[in-house]
Amino acid sequence: MQKSYYNVIIVGGGISGTALLYTLAQYTDIKNIALFEKYDDIATLNSNAKSNSQTLHCGDIETNYTLEKAIKTNKTATMLEKYAKQYDYNEKYMFKVPKMALGVGKKEVDFIKKRYEDFKEDFPYMELWDKKKLAEIEPALLEGRDKDEDILAMGTQERYSAIDFGAIAKSFVRNAQKAKATADVHLSKEVEVIEQLGDKFKLTINTGEHYFADYVVVNAGAHSLLLAHKMDYGQEYSCIPIGGSFYYSKVDKLKSKVYTIQNPKLPFAAIHGDPDIIEDNRVRFGPTAIALPKLERYHHAHFIDFLESLSPSSEVLEVFHNLLSDEDIREYVFKNFLYEIPGIRQKLFAKEVQKIIPSLSEDDITFAEGVGGLRPQVIDKKNKKLLLGEAKIDTGNGIVFNMTPSPGATSCLGNALEDTKLICKFLGANLKTNKLKKELL
Ligand SMILES: Cc1cc2nc3c(=O)[nH]c(=O)nc-3n(C[C@H](O)[C@H](O)[C@H](O)COP(=O)(O)OP(=O)(O)OC[C@H]3O[C@@H](n4cnc5c(N)ncnc54)[C@H](O)[C@@H]3O)c2cc1C
Repeated sequence: MQKSYYNVIIVGGGISGTALLYTLAQYTDIKNIALFEKYDDIATLNSNAKSNSQTLHCGDIETNYTLEKAIKTNKTATMLEKYAKQYDYNEKYMFKVPKMALGVGKKEVDFIKKRYEDFKEDFPYMELWDKKKLAEIEPALLEGRDKDEDILAMGTQERYSAIDFGAIAKSFVRNAQKAKATADVHLSKEVEVIEQLGDKFKLTINTGEHYFADYVVVNAGAHSLLLAHKMDYGQEYSCIPIGGSFYYSKVDKLKSKVYTIQNPKLPFAAIHGDPDIIEDNRVRFGPTAIALPKLERYHHAHFIDFLESLSPSSEVLEVFHNLLSDEDIREYVFKNFLYEIPGIRQKLFAKEVQKIIPSLSEDDITFAEGVGGLRPQVIDKKNKKLLLGEAKIDTGNGIVFNMTPSPGATSCLGNALEDTKLICKFLGANLKTNKLKKELL
C-alpha cells in the first residue's frame, strides 16, 4: 500500500532537494523520507546541465566574490568534489577543465595581480599566467589580439571545475535509495498547498492526493517563495526571476573556463566562456541576465504566480529605483535586454565574446535556443536590497523554504547539511557525525 505519512517531505527534485534526500538517507537515522517533484524526471529545470554554466564554483576565478565568500563557497564545492570522487564520478560527471579569471588592459591586469596576492594563502594552487603561458594553455585568447594589449590571468589546471549538476542530482537519488529503502521519490506530483495541522503538515498534490509529514523542506527553486507566501511566511522577501541565456561558438576554440572581470557595481557575474561538458566540442558564452515575468524559463508563464512571488510594494520599487539610478547598472540592464532580441543580439553579444577570443566574429556565434535557466534572486524588503546569494526561511515550526540562485548548485551539499542539522534537532533524530566527517567534510 502506498504510504501517505513521512517523517520528512522534500518539495522539489533539483540538485538542492536531491542533495537533502541523500544526506538524510545517508547520515541520519530518520526512517521515512519522501521527495516530491512536479515533472516526470529529476533535475529538468535549473539544475539540468543545459540550464546552468556547469561550474563548480570555488571562488578562485569568480571575481564578484570577496575572499570571505570564496572561502565559504570553496568549502561546499569541496564537499561535492568529495562526494563525486567517493562514487568514482570524476571524469564521468565532474571534470578537471583548466580555469582562469582573465584581466584585459592595465586596470584589470593590476586587479588580477592584487587579487592573486590576496588569495594566494587560501588558494595556494592558483598561478599567475602571463601572455607566454597563456599562449601555451589557451592560444585562442591571443588570436587576433593587439600585440600591445596587456593581459594576465590567475588560474589553475589542478582542480575539478566542470560538473554536470543534473547527473549528480540523479546520482543523489540512486545513492539515497541504496542507503535507505524507505527514501521514496514521487515524480509528476506537484505540491499545490501545504497546511500546518497541529504538529503535522498536510500536503495537497495536483492529483488530489494528500500526504502528511512531521517536517517539510521546500527546495522548489523560484516556487519556494511562492509556497512560503501562501503559508504567510517570508513576507519580508520578494523574488525577482532573472533569466540567463547562452551563445554557442560555432568553432571549438576554448579548452578552459575563462571568466572575465566583474564590475563590482553590477549585480550578476560577468560573461564567461565554458567548454560544454554535455555537447562535445562546443563552447558556450554567457550567461546573460534579464528579468522575466515568469517562474520557469522555458515553460509557459504563470503570471499570477510571478506577481505573488514578487509581491510588489513601495520597498520593492525603491530597490529597483536605487539599482536603476546607477548609470552602469542601467546600461547593463539595457544591454542584456538587447542580447535577447533576434536580429541584433548576435552582433551586440559578439563584442562581449571578443573580450575573451578577439578573433571570433558575430558569424562565429549563435544564440543557444532552449539553453539557459532562471535565477530566483531575492529582494530583502526590510533592508531594501537585492540579495545576491541564497536565502533561507527557517520558520522554526518544522518547515524551511530555500531560495537558491547561483552558486546554489555548487553549495547543494552545504545547504543540505544545514537543513539536515535543523531537521535532526527538531525531530530528535541522530546525525552520523563520524561518517559525515569521513566522507564529506
Ligand atoms: C544561467 C544560470 C547559470 C548558472 N550557473 C551555475 C553554475 O555554473 N554553478 C552553480 O553552482 N550554479 C549555477 N547556477 C545556479 C544553479 O543552477 C541553481 O542554484 C540550482 O540549480 C538550484 O537548484 P534547486 O534544486 O534549488 O532548484 P531547481 O533546479 O530549479 O529545482 C527545483 C525543482 O523543484 C520543482 N518544483 C517546483 N515547484 C514544485 C512543486 N510545487 N511541487 C513539486 N516540485 C516542484 C521543479 O520542477 C524543480 O525540479 C546557474 C543558474 C542559471 C540560471
